[in-house]
Amino acid sequence: MTVLFQAGVLPPTRKEMVDFMNCPYCGTPKFRTSRLRLTDLPRLALLQFPVRCRLCRERFHVGLSLALHLIQAQKVREGEEAAIRREKYKAEDKTPKSAL
Ligand SMILES: [Zn+2]
Repeated sequence: MTVLFQAGVLPPTRKEMVDFMNCPYCGTPKFRTSRLRLTDLPRLALLQFPVRCRLCRERFHVGLSLALHLIQAQKVREGEEAAIRREKYKAEDKTPKSAL
């Protein structure tokens, strides 16, 4: 038995996924994953995940792979923001309080 492995069939790259991530209402590519509701279940069955536009606040659905990508990006951004906060805190902590 030969193992059929089609090298030509590849999943879309991250770049391609990001390219069609635009809000259908205002066209901005900036949105975040929305909180799940009971009414999202039928959509989830179709592998669609709710997101909310950061600009116009409209709620709509995107493919699950896209949503996972968003969650990943959000985690990275949160990590970066936490690191910045830590750095700020450290910097403030270093300043002597009796510097009057
Ligand atoms: Zn929008």
